[in-house]
Amino acid sequence: MTPEPPLPFVCAAGALAEAQRCLDCSDHVRGAAAARAAWEQAAAEGREPGLAIRAVTLLLLHLQRSGDDEQTLTEGQRALARLGESQDPASRAELLGAMALSADQLDLLGEALDYSVSALDSAQRSGQPVLQCLALSRLSRAYTRLNNPARGIELGRQALALAEAAGDRDQIFRALTMFADAHSEEGEMLAADGKIDEARARFGLAYESFDRAKRVTTTGDNPYRRCIALVNRGQALAKTGRLHDALQELDVVRSLARQHGFGRILLAEVEMRALALIGLERPAEARQLCEAALADPLVAGNEALAPELQERLYQACKAQGDLAAALRHHELLLKLQQRKFRRRSDAQLRVLLARAEIERSRAEAQRAAHEAQAERERALVLQAERDSLQHKAQQLRRDAHLDVLTGLPNRRALELRLQQQLRAAPAAGLGCLAIIDVDHFKSINDAHGHARGDEVLRALGALLAHGIREPDFIARWGGEEFVALLHGATPQQAYTACERLRQSIAAHHWSGIVPALTVSASIGVHALAVGASLDQTMAGADRALYAAKNGGRNRVVLGGAAPGDAP
Ligand code: GH3
Ligand code: MG
Ligand code: MG
Repeated sequence: MTPEPPLPFVCAAGALAEAQRCLDCSDHVRGAAAARAAWEQAAAEGREPGLAIRAVTLLLLHLQRSGDDEQTLTEGQRALARLGESQDPASRAELLGAMALSADQLDLLGEALDYSVSALDSAQRSGQPVLQCLALSRLSRAYTRLNNPARGIELGRQALALAEAAGDRDQIFRALTMFADAHSEEGEMLAADGKIDEARARFGLAYESFDRAKRVTTTGDNPYRRCIALVNRGQALAKTGRLHDALQELDVVRSLARQHGFGRILLAEVEMRALALIGLERPAEARQLCEAALADPLVAGNEALAPELQERLYQACKAQGDLAAALRHHELLLKLQQRKFRRRSDAQLRVLLARAEIERSRAEAQRAAHEAQAERERALVLQAERDSLQHKAQQLRRDAHLDVLTGLPNRRALELRLQQQLRAAPAAGLGCLAIIDVDHFKSINDAHGHARGDEVLRALGALLAHGIREPDFIARWGGEEFVALLHGATPQQAYTACERLRQSIAAHHWSGIVPALTVSASIGVHALAVGASLDQTMAGADRALYAAKNGGRNRVVLGGAAPGDAP
């Protein structure tokens, strides 16, 4: 292939229009490049998927029409894997149709059938009768080639009915050709079984349909199609035994093909003429014809037709009794057939491998996407579990340091706090510790019940929490005893603060809990000392408390002072 010319398209739509224009004027090299550019740009521009599938469809039509069946199939498979299921059924039908045709050309008959069935499905969804005719014709051909000409005839008939209803000449021609091909194939099968009369009848039917097809074309202006129609009709004539008529038909083919330079048709004409001449027992003419054609450089390079010519030469030489020449041509025929077969199988293998690879990577991508999703879900579950555990741990930590009844920090919290405070040892002094003990609390319990006693403790907790200032600390030590840590306070400052607390307790309106209830507390204060333990500090404060109790209760005593002494 010549290198593709640069295509400076500014947008996908421009490239698409160029690809379409090239299709109409059969410039497949430029058209394929434009379609490819349209596809890539449609993806880059994030354009609607309809544009992408139209671009791929045009690419496939260009590849298919330039005879690159292998590329048509691999590009088509890639496009099918990339494009979703639901887009533009009309373009999809065309795309699958091109793939069916290429699969047919490569003798990948199962694939041709698959793609034809899918094309028909898309064509039906598109609601376009012309696309349905086309798909039915392709399906008819696929069945015929898969040795089921009866189904091919049936589908060809359906295609024809639709095409006639739509009044589409192209499709009528195509359907008639498929219909006739199926009859012809049925004839071949009958002939192989030795049912010669039945076979002839089928060839007769094939001729009728080819004849109709040919008449469709005479009114048309497409000389290539007219040639094909004549070739088909000529072949059918030969099969029904009308060899002279066949030769006359081929004369017309030859002049038309020469006039328009249809190389492939010229070669097919030679091959068919040779066959008719051999049938008419004119092998010398057949041999001469084929030898002349073989001398043509166009034929020598044509892998597709060279074997057919060798076969006719072999038959002609044999009919002439020139067995040495017949053997030579037969050997050549075998070699050419082998080469053709090898190339064909290589191409088939490459297409199938490419398909397997595309499907494998699609499955792999799907599996990876599923796994990633599952992984995300697992991570979410784990995160939720972690959050809940963290929350619980936080709760437990809080609970472990909180007093349930009053909600104040508990004894353990106090111990920790005290340790911190002793370690910190600020130069200004460590502060003081005070034990606050309710006076005659037992009698409150006894007189009003334990539940009322609890209420008093809760209210007292709130009162104390409210009465101290940051960064002072208050905790419930246990029972009806509370401990305050007065941060950095001198004994005198601590005394003043505790006196304020004591007064607020005594002045509190306790009759909200029990009418006429009064509550008081005694407070023992002790200064914290560097190196002193919690027990030593508590013992000091306890002694002060004891002094306060002994001194008549409802009072504050500073450690070290004599019981009852005010500072
Ligand atoms: P004092 O003035 O000498 O301190 O006399 P008191 O009655 O307050 O002291 P005592 O140690 O004899 O009694 C303390 C009472 O506190 C005994 C106990 O039943 C009560 N108590 C301890 N914990 C709780 C509690 O959580 N709730 C209630 N309602 N009572 C408690
Ligand atoms: Mg007590
Ligand atoms: Mg008490």
